[in-house]
Amino acid sequence: MKAVSKYGVSENGYYGSFGGAYIPEILYNNIEELKSKYLGISQSEKFNNEFSELLKNYVGRPTPLFFAKNLSEQYKTNIYLKREDLNHTGAHKINNAIGQILLAKELGKKRIIAETGAGQHGVATATVCALMGMECIVYMGETDVQRQAPNVARMKMLGAKVVSVHSGSKTLKDASNEAIRDWINNPENTYYLIGSVVGPHPYPDMVARFQSVISNEIKGQLKTILGKENPDYVIACVGGGSNAAGAFYHFLESEDVKLIGVEAAGKGIDSGHTAATLSVGSAGIIHGSKTILMQTADGQITEPYSISAGLDYPGIGPVHAYLNEVRRANYISITDTEALEAALNLTKKEGIIPALESAHALAALGKLQFKKEEIVILNLSGRGDKDLETYTNYLNELKYAKQN
Ligand SMILES: *Cc1c(COP(=O)(O)O)cnc(C)c1O
Repeated sequence: MKAVSKYGVSENGYYGSFGGAYIPEILYNNIEELKSKYLGISQSEKFNNEFSELLKNYVGRPTPLFFAKNLSEQYKTNIYLKREDLNHTGAHKINNAIGQILLAKELGKKRIIAETGAGQHGVATATVCALMGMECIVYMGETDVQRQAPNVARMKMLGAKVVSVHSGSKTLKDASNEAIRDWINNPENTYYLIGSVVGPHPYPDMVARFQSVISNEIKGQLKTILGKENPDYVIACVGGGSNAAGAFYHFLESEDVKLIGVEAAGKGIDSGHTAATLSVGSAGIIHGSKTILMQTADGQITEPYSISAGLDYPGIGPVHAYLNEVRRANYISITDTEALEAALNLTKKEGIIPALESAHALAALGKLQFKKEEIVILNLSGRGDKDLETYTNYLNELKYAKQN
């Protein structure tokens, strides 16, 4: 968990002009405590032994780096899939949840709160709380509770209390507001477990460090396979940006490695139904940090849209706002239909059903020009079991369209 300097967070929590901690006064002590302790704790030998052991024997790491021969032939280059889909609970989110639950334990906190949109982060949080015997409360917008019934059932089975939030648009940003309200009311015994590289400093940096295990493993695996640590490309989808931040982390200062983040265009960036924050957003404050977000002219946060619930976020982690601004990473966007097609393609070509989020990264392969000898790493952030209904409906639509 070596710190990056040039593209890493500054001492006071900024990436360029993005980041910071814009929080209510009453949470100042909580954030200060985290800020002053997270590096010391997460770099201690005790923490690292426990973290590594759980990543290995509970999560199933290291995840394989798979040479996708058929996909490579299709795109006339060398494509390796980093198989985060094979993690326990089916995605990369567990890496961060394990890191933060160990931190919460070291801080002496007994009660864990989280918010979730699609429910994936809620499930990861409920999972680690069950593992550690901690109380778990997950805030979720009422609309999402209805849309994501299987994940709600999982969280409950894992022992979490799921609180349905009825205010505002009844989605993720309303759930975030409730979680923060809870934290304000219970600052002493409660730890707020955030699921992506978002929120007030030090969360974005902390989450990036926990997810950096992804790029750390890629380096070692490439060294073994090819005798060199650096690929030509790293491609990852971006909701809040944690799997991308983890996959980019140890390559940030190797400027010859091209970093590509893929946002969800939804029905198209000009359609009004999109989650492509960097294409349509502007600077503002969301979830306690300054970043790029989707908002109206008078600063109201706009409701995002993507077919993939995990990319359906109106902001983006401050680190990505910065990497985009300084052009260290390039960000493109992919529509719902392009992602669906890319998911079907991977399934047929390699026998892997990807998460719809990861399918956005796969669709980016068709938008880039690769050389035959180049090495392309694609971070397959999660598996597609949760998206089976969406895939089935799409396949039925295709069949229907063919018949008519
Ligand atoms: C949540 C999720 C994402 C998006 O979150 P990031 O913080 O941007 O990584 C991507 N893929 C999967 C499978 C997810 O569950």
